[in-house]
Amino acid sequence: MTFYCKNFEIGTDQCTKLHSECIPGRPGCVLEGRVAISDELQRRIDQLEEERLARLAQRQR
Ligand code: SF4
Repeated sequence: MTFYCKNFEIGTDQCTKLHSECIPGRPGCVLEGRVAISDELQRRIDQLEEERLARLAQRQR
């Protein structure tokens, strides 16, 4: 099965919707809740979310 996402930026592998790494199924992704995510990917998603929240906290200081 192949899938094309209009938010995927070829060359950088970034998601233009989330302004971050493309990980299909991550929160905010068009596939959220529609695909199964491995434990390894879930750890990467959790790490990215922590980094995103840290960036937001830094901006609010
Ligand atoms: S994270 Fe989801 S919405 Fe973003 S580019 Fe990847 S598949 Fe598309």
